[in-house]
Amino acid sequence: MIFSVFDLLMGVAVAAVPGWFLGGTVGALSAAALALFAHAVVLVWRIHRLDQWLSAPHLQRDPPWQGIWLEMASRIQRILRLQEKQAALHEKRLKDFLLAIQASPNGVVLLDGDSRIEWCNDTAASHLGLDAQKDRMQHIVHLVRDPVFAKYFAQDEHSSEVIIEGRTNSVVNVKKLSVQLHAYGEGRSLLLTRDITALAQADAMRRDFVANVSHEIRTPLTVLSGFVETLQSIPLDAAETKQYLQLMSVQSERMQSLVADLLTLSQLEGSQAPSVQEKVPLPPLMDHVHDDALALTELLASKSDGPVHQLVMDPVPEVALLGSRSELLSAVSNLVNNAIRYTPLGGLIHLQWSLTPEGAVFAVKDSGPGIAAEHLPRLSERFYRVDRSRSRETGGTGLGLAIAKHVMQRHGGELRIESVVGQGATFKLCLPLSRVSNSLD
Ligand code: ADP
Repeated sequence: MIFSVFDLLMGVAVAAVPGWFLGGTVGALSAAALALFAHAVVLVWRIHRLDQWLSAPHLQRDPPWQGIWLEMASRIQRILRLQEKQAALHEKRLKDFLLAIQASPNGVVLLDGDSRIEWCNDTAASHLGLDAQKDRMQHIVHLVRDPVFAKYFAQDEHSSEVIIEGRTNSVVNVKKLSVQLHAYGEGRSLLLTRDITALAQADAMRRDFVANVSHEIRTPLTVLSGFVETLQSIPLDAAETKQYLQLMSVQSERMQSLVADLLTLSQLEGSQAPSVQEKVPLPPLMDHVHDDALALTELLASKSDGPVHQLVMDPVPEVALLGSRSELLSAVSNLVNNAIRYTPLGGLIHLQWSLTPEGAVFAVKDSGPGIAAEHLPRLSERFYRVDRSRSRETGGTGLGLAIAKHVMQRHGGELRIESVVGQGATFKLCLPLSRVSNSLD
């Protein structure tokens, strides 16, 4: 700067000297004024060029000047470059931050002081049916029309969440959302949304399950306590007492089977999938199943004084299954027992194991009443029964197919059911190749 003022003074002095020689004091002053003017013009022109240079989109070029102008331009260039760098850094941080919120499994909506949407992530957009781009600066209450949300939004206090129905294309699978507002900054707020459909379903299932178990246990307990009361209050002869005790024993057996099946289910749910190290040779397993089936049909036949079922079992392949013996036995037995229990005495029950390119399939085909199509998808739900009275009469717990399905899932297979009313039913256990071994030991 000192140099620049010095330059100016020198220029004025240099112009004033010839002016003084030509026109005395007036000439010197005029020449000095002329020099000052020329200097001002040059200054304006240079400032204009500097401004043009600074306005270039990127300050990549070095300043094309010398001296004080080069120094000034370089300083400004350094400051601007620093600012550009900082702005880029802030922009990158903001982008990273928004990407992080975008990756969140929960929905996030940023609302300004007037509750207008400033930004929302894709999850929030899909939860609330918003358009992340088009709905910017729209009032949130105009877009989320759930009355529960509107009421929640209007209140002053938002310390707890509220449950609303999310947007979905399906009328059957209505989404449940947990929504909560959090204030931040100056009057701004953050709206967080969480899909709790699965949680709500699990909760409803748990409540149903507890209600079902309580109901299943209460019925035999009521009968039992009724008999106990009768035995205590009414004098009975030996034959009557025997009959009562027999009926009581049926009820306690029913409770025992229920508890046993509940324990089996909870073990299946709480343990790791069975390893492929354990070999379960199929022929002895099926001998066991066949003997039990014969015993069951003889028992039912003796109770109702009718003929036993015709039990046909195809030759069993000489292979072993890889998995848990007790679980596989339970799955196979449940299907065979059901076929016997739901098929009228004398009916035909056909057991067949077949090896397929996909693995091994066990099929139980019966000539019973069959099952209507609307029941098929729900048959393996816990406590779902089509023929409630037949299930009770024959000591059913309502858990057999749920156990069979679970066992199959744990072995990487599946339970399949085919049936037409009046034409019997076929229940299949399908196991993948990875669970079948050609050697028996
Ligand atoms: P349950 O102990 O009541 O037999 P399951 O889970 O084994 O319970 O079976 C569920 C329901 O499926 C039964 O209550 C019965 O209504 C129906 N079911 C099962 N197997 C057969 C079958 N072979 N034929 C007709 N209905 C069946």
